Amino acid sequence: MSQRDVILPGATLGVMGGGQLGRMFVHAAQAMGYRTAVLDPDPTSPAGLVSHHHVCTGYLDEAGLTELARVSAAITTEFENVPAAALDKLAETLPVAPAGAAVAICQDRAREKAHFVGCGVDCAPHAIIETSEQLAAVSDDLLPGILKTARLGYDGKGQIRVRTRDELVAAWSELKQVGCVLEKMLPLAYEVSVLVARGRDGRVVHFPLQQNLHRDGILAVTTVPAPSVSEAVSQQAYAAAHQIAASMNYVGVLCIEFFVLQDGRIVANEMAPRPHNSGHHTIDACDVSQFEMQVRAMTGLPLVDPVLHSPCLMLNLLGDLWFPAGSAEQVEPDWAAVLALSGTHLHLYGKTEARKARKMGHLTVTGATPESARATALKAAEILGIAPF
Ligand code: ATP
Ligand code: MG
Repeated sequence: MSQRDVILPGATLGVMGGGQLGRMFVHAAQAMGYRTAVLDPDPTSPAGLVSHHHVCTGYLDEAGLTELARVSAAITTEFENVPAAALDKLAETLPVAPAGAAVAICQDRAREKAHFVGCGVDCAPHAIIETSEQLAAVSDDLLPGILKTARLGYDGKGQIRVRTRDELVAAWSELKQVGCVLEKMLPLAYEVSVLVARGRDGRVVHFPLQQNLHRDGILAVTTVPAPSVSEAVSQQAYAAAHQIAASMNYVGVLCIEFFVLQDGRIVANEMAPRPHNSGHHTIDACDVSQFEMQVRAMTGLPLVDPVLHSPCLMLNLLGDLWFPAGSAEQVEPDWAAVLALSGTHLHLYGKTEARKARKMGHLTVTGATPESARATALKAAEILGIAPF
């Protein structure tokens, strides 16, 4: 596809993966007049339920990929564990953004860290552990640390905190001795993330930086503008994010998570080759959402600098909220009470079964000022049974 070829509304946009990120992509694409196609093996996937086409096969199924390519004018992904080989196969016949090669870097913590270092961006001191020899050779400087599987980790899954060598050895066995990265435990002041989008023409735009609070390894609250972050730190994070995207020749939306350390330094943690949970507020608080940006990047439409028009907080709605204290049965939270608070925007992903730690939806709270948004978010949290923040 040349830079001048734009895929216009009316065309069908395909997405690999049918989770909530795919669902919100489908919503954005359809709002702009595109048709959509989702490939996901789950017949009740959140995105499949709302898309024009749902190709219900595995990600490497030949017939499924052929069908997706047949109905689509371009392809994107909502899920970083889509096999890069599937994206490469689709790219033989139609534009794919991001490319399989970029997704492959983001799928592997070791490659991801090498990419950060190659861009001159600091990351946590770490060691790659693929063999018992590498395990034995680990420097004491990396302890206490966190042992993370190199692939397929998310929401704190596939990682174990270790204080001693004995714990490290036990943790690697517990992780079935798959390829891992041991990271030094760093003194975090807070966590932030930056969403960038890069077009085929090389233009990069970024959203205002988000400050993220995690609980039990899962994102709980995102606040924008980031209350604790100085302008100097923000500029450093934006520059790093632009460099990281450009040096992969990336096309699409990319999210980079950073740690801000107690001494003020920033280090890159990990990245996701797609819109991100910490960017869901962009739907209600920015003039262009991260999902519209994904549509623009993959179709060759112009990327413009997004503007945050309202201070906001985003609360993740985990399945735990459907089980208030002592309840064994699933109970629907009191949405009417939450929506009686002005500035609340409810997003539910169409998942009927609530399970603990399952992302069921999110609530964005916008306000005229950061203080009023926070006050409303705290009220909503109290109604929903989310601990104060
Ligand atoms: P995600 O759902 O974002 O993909 P993940 O399971 O891939 O998460 P990480 O982002 O690597 O995992 O880690 C989860 C959380 O654990 C981080 O947000 C941070 O709070 C904490 N953490 C991870 N690595 C470190 C570190 N080296 N030092 C201190 N805290 C850390
Ligand atoms: Mg993370």
